[in-house]
Amino acid sequence: MDKTRRTLSLFNTLTRRVEPVVPVVADQISLYTCGPTVYNYAHIGNLRTFLFQDLLKRTFQATGYGVRHCMNITDVEDKIIRDSQTALPADATNEVRHGAMKALTDRFTAIFLEDLAALRVQPADLLPRATAYVPQMIRLIQDLEARGLAYVREGSVYYRIAGLPQYGCLAHLDREGMQAGASVDADEYERDSVTDFVLWKATKAGEPWWDSPWGQGRPGWHIECSAMGLELLGERVDIHSGGVDLIFPHHENEIAQSEGCLGHRWVNHWVHGEFLMVEGQKMAKSLGNFFTLRDLVDKGVDPIALRYAIQSNHYRKVLNFSFEGLRAAENSLKRIRAFRTRIEGEGQAGGGPWAEGSNPADRLDQAREAFWAAMADDLNTPEALAALFTLISDLNAQDDHVALTREERDAVLAFLDETDRIFAAWPHETASLDAEVEALIEARRAAKAARNWAEADRVRDQLKALGIIPEDRKDGTVGWRRG
Ligand SMILES: [Zn+2]
Repeated sequence: MDKTRRTLSLFNTLTRRVEPVVPVVADQISLYTCGPTVYNYAHIGNLRTFLFQDLLKRTFQATGYGVRHCMNITDVEDKIIRDSQTALPADATNEVRHGAMKALTDRFTAIFLEDLAALRVQPADLLPRATAYVPQMIRLIQDLEARGLAYVREGSVYYRIAGLPQYGCLAHLDREGMQAGASVDADEYERDSVTDFVLWKATKAGEPWWDSPWGQGRPGWHIECSAMGLELLGERVDIHSGGVDLIFPHHENEIAQSEGCLGHRWVNHWVHGEFLMVEGQKMAKSLGNFFTLRDLVDKGVDPIALRYAIQSNHYRKVLNFSFEGLRAAENSLKRIRAFRTRIEGEGQAGGGPWAEGSNPADRLDQAREAFWAAMADDLNTPEALAALFTLISDLNAQDDHVALTREERDAVLAFLDETDRIFAAWPHETASLDAEVEALIEARRAAKAARNWAEADRVRDQLKALGIIPEDRKDGTVGWRRG
């Protein structure tokens, strides 16, 4: 893979420039991505973000870096509490309230992981649930208090933004306009109401709570990611990513919390994926253009065509999702796969004749160089794929009268494998099946852990359809064999 080993550059929201990623530890990328808030099905706008992060991660892996990827699961938050507690009687105990919250979030965590598996998004190495890190959150808030960056008001704790000179550095906020001393309790708010934000929320009637030095309460959303990120990836992180909607307030507040404690830069590269529109409009349930992956699958859409339709567009451009675009994606995939099938049958004849300077090896070298140069330049997938299609056109144009030598054929197939390590859409048969099976096994494990038997059975049937039998082993792990 020496030829593809190169420095990758990414647009850094902190500096508003495309900058080379220089990892803190040579050849190792630490990557934190904000995971889902698990109270509902992910819509395709959410899934765009996770597909962008998969592209980011796989590009580093395909160019020879090790990636340690942490993605949190937000399983306590305003909307989760709203949706999980309404059916409970007013006198429900705290234990019952926690149980109801866990039932909801376990269910949607399993569904989320199943969606990712269908889209061939690699599972994160670390998948922490926020509720398992409440002691770390409390310690972090105490630390901020000790540094004069947090204060208590009526049992809640707030971050004092005036105490941190760099507050606003990510969202490029105007410090003049900030309302020091005012405070906001909601997890999400607009950038024209920049105020002190909540770290710990005093409990309200009808909510699950934890004990804390400030009385019964629960963490705010922003402190969750700082606590998990610091605990699992440490004090210096290479890349932190999410959708553009997380720049403010979520990521701005994460910086305030983590750097307020550390006293130095926490994350070097902040990377954000753009929004998705549907047929030129903002996606909204009221407009009837709101889709989950399941909605699309019910309409006969192949998840891998959706994967390609999203990833073939530049992650920093607003993507206009359309059914026409999906059909175009399906056609592009057909073209690449048909090329692969044809090339796999090549190599019997002697090769040539090719004009001097335009033999398959040269064309392959050019395509390869152009592909990796484009990917290294802020993940420019439209240009990278254009290089791949140029190669396909060139070699297809020689169709009937020229065959590739065995070496040429193998080199072209190796290039297809290389590019598929990123796009995961034109795999060699066995390799693709193994990855799909692993992802489904993980989804089934999560469904069983959530005691969601219907979901677990559904995944088992999917595995069965692939001719795979999962094996539950005595040590608690799950293996599989071909049936
Ligand atoms: Zn987050």
